[in-house]
Amino acid sequence: NLGARFQDIFKKVRGHGKLSESNIKEALREVKMSLLEADVNYKVVKDFIKKIQDKAIGTEVVTGINPGQQFIKIVNDELVELLGGTNSRLTKGVRNPTVIMLAGLQGAGKTTFAAKLSNYLKKTGERPYMISADVYRPAAMKQLEVLGKQIDVPVYFEEGSKDAVGICERGLEKAKEANATYLIIDTAGRLHIDEHLMEELKDIKKTVRPQEILLVVDAMIGQDAVNLAESFNNALNIDGVILTKFDGDTRGGAALSIKSVVGKSIKFVGTGEKISDLELFHPERIASRILGMGDVVSLVEKAQEAINEDDAKSLEEKIRTQQFDLDDFLKQLQNIKKLGPLGSILKMLPGVGQIGDLAPAEKEMKKVEAIIQSMTKEERKKPEILKASRKQRIAKGSGTDVSDVNKLLKQFEQMKDMMKMFSSGKFPNIPGMRGK
Ligand code: GDP
Ligand code: MG
Repeated sequence: NLGARFQDIFKKVRGHGKLSESNIKEALREVKMSLLEADVNYKVVKDFIKKIQDKAIGTEVVTGINPGQQFIKIVNDELVELLGGTNSRLTKGVRNPTVIMLAGLQGAGKTTFAAKLSNYLKKTGERPYMISADVYRPAAMKQLEVLGKQIDVPVYFEEGSKDAVGICERGLEKAKEANATYLIIDTAGRLHIDEHLMEELKDIKKTVRPQEILLVVDAMIGQDAVNLAESFNNALNIDGVILTKFDGDTRGGAALSIKSVVGKSIKFVGTGEKISDLELFHPERIASRILGMGDVVSLVEKAQEAINEDDAKSLEEKIRTQQFDLDDFLKQLQNIKKLGPLGSILKMLPGVGQIGDLAPAEKEMKKVEAIIQSMTKEERKKPEILKASRKQRIAKGSGTDVSDVNKLLKQFEQMKDMMKMFSSGKFPNIPGMRGK
């Protein structure tokens, strides 16, 4: 009913103000839990929370959202920053081919990624070429060959050879002959990091001088990803990270930890077993995945766009001095409408899974709008002058009944009473909704 919506507008007004230690306390705890649940390194979480707290306190809350939501937006922006801000692209060498060397543990998804990347590059007009330098796993070369055939990308390999460095050397020549623009080198992995594996990778690096060494990491290993990335980085000085199996339950905490601890950007994420299941790494998407906050962030952005700060200030003043009239009420309704259909707004809020049919609420909002629009300026300012004949005219003009007009007036009066209580400080405190 309309009364509930009045309350909503109310909350928005109450939320208008600055973020303070008390009104972010709850939200701060939620964020901390989200980060830990997303498997972000504990130390990273601690530093992050401290930073956010310092930043949030004193921030103005935009009208149309509550402090908690405003806070989530701050957290999100900071997360995006921490994840590297924008997407970091692949380097392109001055001479062809640009050599990209893959490294990582066995089963991380290197071979799959080699094919995914080749496919991606091919679609952007490049001429990729692949080398399989996995001389340990039986059938590893065959696996890449099969994938190469599927996407029509040539693969160099030497069946039965144990000379990974030699394969890379000869493969590079072949790629040059073939006029390839990118050469992707798939390497062997181990179940754990060992000296021999690292030495071989270092030798390959020395021989082919890659523009990019990409560490392929299974996102599902969570916390271990950080140590892994550190070891590979110490040995090889990697240029970026690929997170695979991002289609599972993982919430992406590893991504945040790697970036913060190792300082290397994530460039792509693998989102499935198919060759096309590859996405550029988008810090914004990962941030909202880590926070698990639905689309609160875009809600806040919408509110920021829709609601003019000056309007909000004068509204607050009117409530305080009890001059809020039907015109102001109409403006508020229109602000809510600017945010989009009620359903889509509610869907953006976390925890609001299934919502019932909102058509009646939207219909009623339209009705109220029509009624107020059928009033004269004077009537909107002083609804008490509305007697039977005026009400009849308004009902007719808005295509409603006199009973609808009466209902609106009654609810408006109730709302004004609530505002009186609020502005005199008699309104009970709602945790997390405190304004100034
Ligand atoms: P490698 O040992 O590092 O070369 O790993 P593989 O490329 O052979 O992949 C190991 C397994 O992980 C295979 O079954 C792949 O299909 C699977 N895999 C690779 N990337 C992804 C991904 O992004 N999502 C999912 N769900 N599976 C993947
Ligand atoms: Mg492999």
